[in-house]
Amino acid sequence: MRRRQLLAAGSAAASMPALALDFAPPRAPAAMRVSVDRIIDIATGIRPFRAQGPRIEAERLAGKQVVHHYGHGGSGWSLSWGSAQRALVMIQARARPGERIAVIGAGAIGLTTARTAQQAGYKVRLYAKDRPPRVHSSAATGLWTPDSRIATLEHATEAWRADWEAMARASFKVHQSFLGLPSGPVEWHDGYLVADNGFDAPLPAYAVEPDYPDLADRIADLRPRGKPLEPGEHPFHKAQARRFTQLVFNIPAYQRLLLDDFARDGGEMVQREFRTPRDFARLPEALVVNCTGDGARTLLGDASLTPVRGQTARLVPQPEVDYAVIYRGRNVVALPRRDGLLVAAMGEHDFGSTDLTPDRAHSEDAVRRLGSLFG
Ligand SMILES: Cc1cc2nc3c(=O)[nH]c(=O)nc-3n(C[C@H](O)[C@H](O)[C@H](O)COP(=O)(O)OP(=O)(O)OC[C@H]3O[C@@H](n4cnc5c(N)ncnc54)[C@H](O)[C@@H]3O)c2cc1C
Repeated sequence: MRRRQLLAAGSAAASMPALALDFAPPRAPAAMRVSVDRIIDIATGIRPFRAQGPRIEAERLAGKQVVHHYGHGGSGWSLSWGSAQRALVMIQARARPGERIAVIGAGAIGLTTARTAQQAGYKVRLYAKDRPPRVHSSAATGLWTPDSRIATLEHATEAWRADWEAMARASFKVHQSFLGLPSGPVEWHDGYLVADNGFDAPLPAYAVEPDYPDLADRIADLRPRGKPLEPGEHPFHKAQARRFTQLVFNIPAYQRLLLDDFARDGGEMVQREFRTPRDFARLPEALVVNCTGDGARTLLGDASLTPVRGQTARLVPQPEVDYAVIYRGRNVVALPRRDGLLVAAMGEHDFGSTDLTPDRAHSEDAVRRLGSLFG
C-alpha cells in the first residue's frame, strides 16, 4: 500500500508543473505602492554632528567622574555598539563592576551604552528628558551607515580612520546577534541603486556641507555589492539598476527590545532634565555617562556640535516589498521597514538647522520622485 502511494506520488510529481519553475526567468519583485495619500507619518530629528567625530572622553565634573559619549552624526545607530565598547573601557577605569552608574540619555547611544555596561556587570540607572519614541534617534532611516556625517575630511587622519573602522566592525558584529528575532529589530534586505544617467555621473550637491571622508572601501566586505541588472530583473520603469545587500534597522522594534532587555536586567529609568552639569552633583551615582546627543550643545555649551536636521516619511506598510531603493542623483532613499515604507530625502537647509517642524511638501516631493520609478 505504502509503495503504491509512493509510486502514485512519484508519477504525479513527474507530471506536475513544479519542474517548470526551475526554468522560469527570475521574477521582478513586487512594485512599491508610492503615492502621497499613502503617507501615514512624518518624523523629524537632529543628527549630532562633530567635525572631529564622536566625543568619547572622560573628565571630572561637578564632583563626578563623567564619561562623555555623544556626537555620532548620521551614524549613531550603526556605530552605537562599537562606540559603547570604547565608552565601557573608560567606565571600567573609573568604576568597579557591581557598582551603580548613571547613563544620561535614552537615544540609540544611551540605550546601547546602558546595555553594554549591564553586560559588563554594572547596575545602571538611566536618566533622560525624553524616551523613545520622543528622541531624535526614533526619526532615523534605519540603514547601516557608519560613515554617514561622522567627521570631516580634514579631521579624518589615518589613525582616526583605523579607530573608526575598528568601531564599525565591532558594532556590525553585535548587530548580527539581533538577527532572526520575531520582532525583526535587525534584518538584511536587498536593495537597488537606481540611476537615470549611469552610476558614474557626478552627483549634484543638495546643500552646502563640509567635505566628508570616503570610508566605504574600509568596510567594503561588510556591504555586498551586485552587478548591473537587465530590464525585467528589477521592478523599475526605465532606470538602470544595480543590486546591493544592506543591513536594515527596524527602529521601533530595536528600541523596544533594548528597553525591554534593559528592564529585564534590572535597569531603572528616571525622567529628568539636566539644565547644567552642576545638576550631576545631585545624583547618587559617582559615575555619569553623558549620552545626550545634540542635547550636549546646550547642556555643556559644546560648540563643537553642529545640529543636522533630518526628516523621514512613512507610507502604509507593504510586507510584500522586501527591498530598499536608493535613487542616485535624485535625493531619495526608500526602505522596507516593518512599520512602513520609509522614504527619506535630504533638505537644502538641514545642515545647522534645529527646526523640527515637519515639511510635508518636502516629503511629498520625495515620494513623487520615488513613484516615478514605478511608472
Ligand atoms: C532623519 C535621520 C536619519 C538618520 N538615519 C540614520 C541611519 O539610517 N543610520 C544610522 O546609523 N543613523 C542614522 N541617523 C543618526 C542617528 O539617529 C543619530 O546619530 C542618533 O540618533 C544619535 O543618538 P543619541 O542617542 O546620541 O541622541 P538622541 O537620540 O538625541 O538621544 C539623546 C537623549 O538624551 C536626552 N537628553 C538630551 N539632553 C538632555 C538633558 N539636558 N537632560 C536629560 N536628558 C537629555 C534626550 O531626551 C534623549 O533621551 C539619522 C538621524 C536622523 C535625524
